[in-house]
Amino acid sequence: MGRSLEWLEIEGFLIESNSHLTKDSRPFAVKRSHLADFIHDLITLAPGTCAMERIWREWSVPTMSFTDSERHRYSRHFILPQVGEDGQARLKHSSVLCVGAGGLGSPTLLYLAAAGVGRIGVIDADRVDLSNLQRQIVHGTSRIDVLKTESAEATLREINPEVEVITHPYRLTADNVLEVLADYDVIVDGSDNFPTRFLVNDGAYFANKPLVAGAIFQFDGQLSVFDRASGGPCYRCLLPEPPAPGAVPSCDEAGVLGALPGVVGSLQAMEVLKILLKIGTPLVGRMMHYDALSARFRELTLRRDPSCPLCGENPTVTAPVDYVQTCAAGAELSVQELRSTLENGFSGVLLDVRQPEEHAWAHITGCRLIPLGEIEAAIPSLDADQEYLVYCKIGQRSAYAVALMQEAGIRKARNVTGGILAWHQAFGMEMLEEG
Ligand SMILES: [Zn+2]
Repeated sequence: MGRSLEWLEIEGFLIESNSHLTKDSRPFAVKRSHLADFIHDLITLAPGTCAMERIWREWSVPTMSFTDSERHRYSRHFILPQVGEDGQARLKHSSVLCVGAGGLGSPTLLYLAAAGVGRIGVIDADRVDLSNLQRQIVHGTSRIDVLKTESAEATLREINPEVEVITHPYRLTADNVLEVLADYDVIVDGSDNFPTRFLVNDGAYFANKPLVAGAIFQFDGQLSVFDRASGGPCYRCLLPEPPAPGAVPSCDEAGVLGALPGVVGSLQAMEVLKILLKIGTPLVGRMMHYDALSARFRELTLRRDPSCPLCGENPTVTAPVDYVQTCAAGAELSVQELRSTLENGFSGVLLDVRQPEEHAWAHITGCRLIPLGEIEAAIPSLDADQEYLVYCKIGQRSAYAVALMQEAGIRKARNVTGGILAWHQAFGMEMLEEG
């Protein structure tokens, strides 16, 4: 069984012209020996890489043979007419990148490895923490403090040594997103914050890769498939810009029932397999919402927004963007709270992020000075487990500093609302000193 490689069957391709995607649905075949001419015609017809990548994916299903062990391992796939040997070969020659090896990434990674997806990438900069294990089932107690990418790799190898696991133990940024995504066929977003969600959405759009996005909050989950190639909407059609810093609490602060990411991550794995196998109807243009408490699934229709800043008619987002994350709940404290914290023997760091001359004029007793402009450079030298209370003149610069610190993994950084002016208003010169 398997396909003849003399002819390459192409079911349809996309032509990008004047920023519009047009689907050419006429099936046709190209003789392998005429491939070079075909590529030349294609480039002339549809300049740009989007169309090219799509075609490569269409023709890259090879004839394959399976070992006895593989036949045994995937026997429940082989007996499904919609999968069979061709489908399993597709999976084996596919690659998927999972952004985040956390709650959503865990079940997704487990099922993709078990199903035999040939190359699985994991990107995550964090290390396993004891508080992760309540839901992040790709990790175990013996892997606390181990890089999540390394821990996930070990688990996936145990589940299926036939698949290749690529680890990316660093953060996804506007600088590296396109390079990282380039090596994969399908992208899974299992991240837990808005900056990454927007970065992955934009990156997948620019790279023209299908994105299976999931999100969870307390008892609610949602997922959708964003696929530029099929003309569907993107995440920004739904939410054009990230919410204002602090408007939405992060999962760390909000809590989540352990099995919830299991449900949503498993659905993400299912969408990925459907896309790779080209079966069923992918969740494009639809948002599935799961309410765990009432045990109800709802479906919302998502439409492409002509004014979308990314995929709309006059896009304003033309390259990946790095946004800064702030966690709302617990990330602010008033000067009154600050005072009582300091008076009760505060063991963390009180940080002044103003300019040295402002600091010299007056500062709260016992603080350390790191001007805002130097914060980013100083972050690697700060103890990430320490508690930081950060202030400036009115609370704006310090809010930004807290955002940078939290983004860098310093979770216990909080902003003093109103800054030193609020302190002066409330307490006069008490606990303030010069120099
Ligand atoms: Zn859009």
